Amino acid sequence: MNDSEKALFKDKLKTLLSEIEEYLEKSEDSAEAVSPDKGLGRLSRMEAMQDQQMVLELRRRQKRRKLEVINALARVEDGNFGSCMFCGGAIAYDRLEAFPEVQTCVSCA
Ligand SMILES: [Zn+2]
Repeated sequence: MNDSEKALFKDKLKTLLSEIEEYLEKSEDSAEAVSPDKGLGRLSRMEAMQDQQMVLELRRRQKRRKLEVINALARVEDGNFGSCMFCGGAIAYDRLEAFPEVQTCVSCA
């Protein structure tokens, strides 16, 4: 991978990171527990709780992804970006384009 490709992925990762941070910030309120005195009917309260569970799960995933993105940015800096962390082989360019934070090639995934 050449320097301009690396710079491109670095930009991609930074954008991804700010998107994730923005999402985590925006979803903070909806992730809070549904208060019993919210004046909702029984059914809508259940719906509200289901929504909350979904938001919690999404937030969990995004938090994990955030760590992976930060990790990938560090690997751009130390020159290991684009190499599989298991076999050391090059990760396919298409794969990196779709998921710039991946750390493994297809065979090791
Ligand atoms: Zn591999």
